[in-house]
Amino acid sequence: MLLQLLEPGETPAPHQNEAPRAIGIDLGTTNSVVAVARDGVVEVLKGADGRGLLASVVCYGEDGSVLVGEDARNQILVAPDHVVGSIKRLMGRGLEDVKSLAGTLPYKMDSLAEGGMVRLNVAGRVLTPVEISADILRAIKARAEAALDGAVEKAVVTVPAYFDDAARTATRDAARLAGLEVLRLVNEPTAAALAYGLDNSAEGLYAVYDLGGGTFDISLLRMEKGVFQVKATGGDAALGGDDVDHAIAEHFLAERGAEPLSAGEVKQVLMVARLAKECLTHSMGGEWMVDIGDRSTRHFLDRATLDRLALPFVERTLEICRGVVADAEVEMEDIKGVVLVGGSTRMPLVRSKVAELFGREPLSDINPDEVVAVGAALQAEALTVGSDTLLLDVTPLSLGIETMGGIVEKVIPRNQPIPVGMAQEFTTYQDGQTAMSIHVVQGEREMVDQCRSLARFVLKGIPPMAAGAARIRVAFTVDADGLLTVSARETTTGTEAQVAVKPSYGLDEEEMAKMLRDSLENARTDMTVRLLTESKVEANRSILAIRAALVADGDLLDAAERGMIETAVAKVETLLAGTDREAILAAAENMENATKGFAEKRMDQGIRKALAGVSVDKLDGAL
Ligand code: ADP
Ligand code: MG
Repeated sequence: MLLQLLEPGETPAPHQNEAPRAIGIDLGTTNSVVAVARDGVVEVLKGADGRGLLASVVCYGEDGSVLVGEDARNQILVAPDHVVGSIKRLMGRGLEDVKSLAGTLPYKMDSLAEGGMVRLNVAGRVLTPVEISADILRAIKARAEAALDGAVEKAVVTVPAYFDDAARTATRDAARLAGLEVLRLVNEPTAAALAYGLDNSAEGLYAVYDLGGGTFDISLLRMEKGVFQVKATGGDAALGGDDVDHAIAEHFLAERGAEPLSAGEVKQVLMVARLAKECLTHSMGGEWMVDIGDRSTRHFLDRATLDRLALPFVERTLEICRGVVADAEVEMEDIKGVVLVGGSTRMPLVRSKVAELFGREPLSDINPDEVVAVGAALQAEALTVGSDTLLLDVTPLSLGIETMGGIVEKVIPRNQPIPVGMAQEFTTYQDGQTAMSIHVVQGEREMVDQCRSLARFVLKGIPPMAAGAARIRVAFTVDADGLLTVSARETTTGTEAQVAVKPSYGLDEEEMAKMLRDSLENARTDMTVRLLTESKVEANRSILAIRAALVADGDLLDAAERGMIETAVAKVETLLAGTDREAILAAAENMENATKGFAEKRMDQGIRKALAGVSVDKLDGAL
């Protein structure tokens, strides 16, 4: 065989002809995973330690070094103040959100926080959750580049289905900081469903049960016409494998006999507990050593004891599942498949209990702690190379604006396939109104104070017109990542204002799940409140109009007529302070009747004014 020779300097570098690869990233609370797909075959990229999981833990050294992964996690024993874990819980959160979590977070918050952004004090540095997540993403990028032997610049990153605009924006910002272009943010349950190829199988309803280290999420997805709709989500932001570790640690410590322990020693026992738990997935029992100080004790743990310790937590997840299924108004039998996600679903107890609840064996052939990254990698390949498994996501919560009386007018409803653009027309409330303040909110409830405020802006320069004459078109656009842009335009003059909605804080997952639940539970009361508010707004509008008319044309009335109108108006005003909608409607009708004569007189006068100087034959022609 003849060797081929190329012109000097023409030898292609290895991989030169390969298009840069796009990776799929599951940026988890406890662990992160990165994977890549080629022709639909997915490879989970392993680190130097041979493991696919990368602990989502960062250790910041005194010397400015940054350590990510299992080694960083182990530093907890040596330098706990330098180690940050579970940063995902703070993504897109504001100071207000974090206050409610006080005590549950092991972080020192920076008191100089400003602009609503949370900052942490770690080893003398002040860091935002976005920066800390970026450090994890940098380690992921480096792992991928080492494994693929080439530059990696593009990624699909997964986020929980309940992540709001702020948390999604924060995730995207973190990726950008790490030098990764986010091709798409995909919902975690959707990615898991995709990994099982549920997109091209028959349409239907699927449950994704995700039990990780510190969080539990259950999502119901409906696959319809190539779109995954999130029908319902629920969960508990403080429920997971960590709770089982605690229960085992307490069991060991009880056997050992009470003794005061330092925080570091407790963490040490927890690590032994976690190891014991993970080993018992494959074995029926084993012996564990707890070494603290100069005392070393041996503890025997078998599967039955582990199951007994874990049962209350597993039961709690089942209870949440039942609630979500009930909220979504579906029957267990309607669910065509259950996907297991998260390391804790490896526990045999979890598998059997979930199978029992849903009445079917869950899908678990794909590693539950890798399945989300597998779906993300398939999506990354689809978005770069192209494939028919291209996925559409949906808006997680309805988006709308505040109208008079604090009522929410939804512009884009929940579960709309994205990208999507929708617009609605609004008008002015008062005569001569030249500016309109636009308040963008997210949520399912009817009233603004029960939804999340996302942004406010003002449309100025509306030409003065009579109330209700201006035409203001408010357009909402949600891009493929679920990020929102809002613009407003007065259509008769073209006056325009626009904001890319970039809130400095977001909803937390419990709040989100609660908002969804509340919207179902409170649908009826919300409607009552809405009707009452609408009646009040309507009555107020009439009063404003009557007042303006009295100022303009009050001379058309005699004292008695005027008195009657004023009494009727006063009656409505008194009732407006209360909540009796029927009474308000009746009084408002009475007020309309009382002003009928006045309205006719004004009309006559208006016609007379308009006709002044018009000749009779012209008028005939017009008639
Ligand atoms: P997250 O999604 O929160 O980042 P993971 O899905 O990686 O978390 O799950 C981490 C949890 O899974 C930890 O509590 C870990 O102890 C648990 N886990 C991992 N492997 C096993 C196993 N073999 N048996 C039981 N629990 C396990
Ligand atoms: Mg996870």
